Amino acid sequence: MKIKPKKERKFGKGSRPCHRCGAYGPTVRTLGLYLCRQCFREIAPKLGFKKYC
Ligand SMILES: [Zn+2]
Repeated sequence: MKIKPKKERKFGKGSRPCHRCGAYGPTVRTLGLYLCRQCFREIAPKLGFKKYC
């Protein structure tokens, strides 16, 4: 059985820019926040997340 994932992308390009730095790319949408991974890693500890990615 071979399964070919066609649409595996949850964070497509150009979906929404980072809400903090405005960078397009893989954004993390958590708690209504649109953040890129870099910003998310900086903000995550403040929100209570220790290790999310
Ligand atoms: Zn950002």
